[in-house]
Formats: sequence, structure tokens, C-alpha cells
Amino acid sequence: MPFYNLEPLNNIVQNQILNNIEKVFFSNKYILGAQLELFEKNFANYCNVKYCVGVGNGFDALILSLMVLGIGNGDEVILPSHSFIATSFAVSRVGAIPIFVEPDIQTCLIDTNEIEKAITSKTKAIIPVHLYGSVCDMDNIMSIANKFGLYVIEDFAQAHGAEYKNRKVGSIGHINATSFYPTKNLGAIGDGGAITTDDKALYDRLMCLRNYGSNEKNYYEFIGLNSRLDEIQACVLNYKLDFLDKWNIERRRIAKRYNEGLKNIFQIKLLPFGEDENINFHVYHLYTITTNQRNELKDYLLRNGIETQIHYPIPIHLQHAYKALMFKKGDFPISEEISNTTLSLPLYVGLSDIQIDQIIHCLKLFFNKKS
Ligand SMILES: *Cc1c(COP(=O)(O)O)cnc(C)c1O
Repeated sequence: MPFYNLEPLNNIVQNQILNNIEKVFFSNKYILGAQLELFEKNFANYCNVKYCVGVGNGFDALILSLMVLGIGNGDEVILPSHSFIATSFAVSRVGAIPIFVEPDIQTCLIDTNEIEKAITSKTKAIIPVHLYGSVCDMDNIMSIANKFGLYVIEDFAQAHGAEYKNRKVGSIGHINATSFYPTKNLGAIGDGGAITTDDKALYDRLMCLRNYGSNEKNYYEFIGLNSRLDEIQACVLNYKLDFLDKWNIERRRIAKRYNEGLKNIFQIKLLPFGEDENINFHVYHLYTITTNQRNELKDYLLRNGIETQIHYPIPIHLQHAYKALMFKKGDFPISEEISNTTLSLPLYVGLSDIQIDQIIHCLKLFFNKKS
């Protein structure tokens, strides 16, 4: 059983998408065309924001968000120590300094009680990451940001369609970044990303920054990037966006079945489901558990034909790329503990109840044998 399988979902959309791609092919317009404009409008509507800017990938979406806010050399940006590397690399790429804040051990999301301690006179922004599809405590984050005059950039690459107190993620921060990497809840058939905001001035500058800093041929207002969501990706995303809510509900159903099946195994800790969907509408980009026997369990499942993944096995502060920051083991003990105990089980649209039950059964066998 693979960790991820795009085939069932592709089967649902393939006819229409292949049709649409053919139309793009014959339109002879592949960059900055009608498909992108339509997707930007649709995705902005979906997220309940005024503006959306389609870009090349999620990493660029984060970099451009920081650039457009004027964040760069010597500035500090607060972000979770437990996340995918892109969040922190974007901060480093623009010359700013990532300031890591530990996650909450229960939710694996940034611990908002620890944010204030990390603020200095150089702090410019906070980047909460809605990791695994679960939403951060945005009320707390926004009130800290307002109190200290900081920007908030939501990284909602893993959480398209997730909601915090009935508000869509990607609409709460000042400017927000997401990815359409193929395995995300809303995935392209290649790289893609987007930025969402309600701020017209930021939007105008972003439209320029993603296109070499140019609004008008041969005139360059800023030193920009070349990062545009292409017409093929935009037409694929336009079509898939209509299915996103349905697919997210299916992801939640699968997660619920796992939770029911695994809840009595005392050696496993489940992450909070977000039972009250009016507060945390979790869209389960990943189904992640923690256990002290993680490595043995992973091997056992693989021997039984079940692929799993670890998100993420090496904490950011211990990566070789950050050796200049001189972190050492023990600096972020909660992140380190999560890295050592976390395991993600297969979850994708099309995973059948029989398969889910087989996986649950296999976990039960493993822990019964050991206890
Ligand atoms: C996938 C992801 C990104 C970056 O996405 P790319 O499109 O692959 O560059 C950023 N942040 C998080 C949390 C992600 O999961």
C-alpha cells in the first residue's frame, strides 16, 4: 500500500482536465493568460479574500510575501521550529533571520504562549504554519501581532479549505502563502503556488514582483523574480477547485475512521481531530500519530506492505544548511521529540475503508505483540 496515490483522484477529473489542457495548448498563450486570471479570481473567492496572485511554487509565494512587505537583511521573523523547511528557508533567502518558536506537544502547531518571548526590536513578522491541515490559534497570533505592530503571513500550503472559527485560512493574516505541489489538498500537475491578501497596495506590487518587477514591457520598477503560475497549471487548478470541499470532507472521514480504530492503543498518541469544526476545521493534509516505538513501527508496517512517512525526521535547527546559526541538540526539545516520535499513515482520496481497516489491524497486531 503506497503512502500516496494520485490515481483515484485523477480518474475523477481526467477527461475534463485533458480537454482543458488541449484548449490551452491550442490557445497559444501559456504564461499570464485567461486561465490564470480566472483561477486567481476563483481562488480569491474561495478563500474569502479580495486578491490572489498565482506564482511558480509555494516557496516563491513565501519569498514574494516577505519581499513585498520589505522584510530583508537583519530583520527577524518568528516561525515554528517544527515545519517543512520551505517556511524557514524563505526567511533566510530574503536575508532575514528565522526565529524559531517551539510547537505545542499536543497539536504540533506553533505554541502561541511562547511567541511574545521571541519578539525583539528587530521582529517584523510572524509566520504561523497550518501544519498537517490543522489550524493555528489565529486569534492569539493576530492579537500579539497587533500589539507589537507585526505582520502575519499564514503558510497554508498544507491546509487549503481549512477553517478557523468559520474563517478560511489564507484570509486571516495580512498576506498569505500557499503551494499547489501535486500532493497538497489542492494539487497541480507540476509546481504551483499562490499568495492571498485583502491589501490592494500589496497586490499591485506582487503582480509586478512576480514578473521581473515589471508591469509594462521593458520597464522594471523593482528587482523582481520570474515566478508565474502557468496556464496549464491554472486550468487544472480551476477545475479541481470545485472538488476541494468534497475531497476535504472525505479526508476528514478517513481520519475519523483511523481515530476510531486507533483510539484504544495506549502506546499511540493521536493529534486532536478538531471535533468542534466551528473552531478548527482540520482538512487532514496528513494523518499523523506519535509513538515512542516509531522506528520499529515504521519498519513493521513496511514489512507488511504499508508505506508511511515522517514529517519531519530532522528538526530544522539541526539541518546542515543552518550550521552557521550554531544550534545544538537540546535547543528545541519539543521539536526534537516530535521528530523522533511522529509517523504519518497513508491518507488520500480513494483510500478504501478496507485498506484503512487493514492498516489499523496491522498497528493493533504490532502493539499487542509488544505489550
Ligand atoms: C509544500 C509546502 C511549502 C512549499 O511548497 P512548494 O510548492 O513545494 O515550494 C511550504 N510550506 C509548507 C508547510 C509546505 O508543506
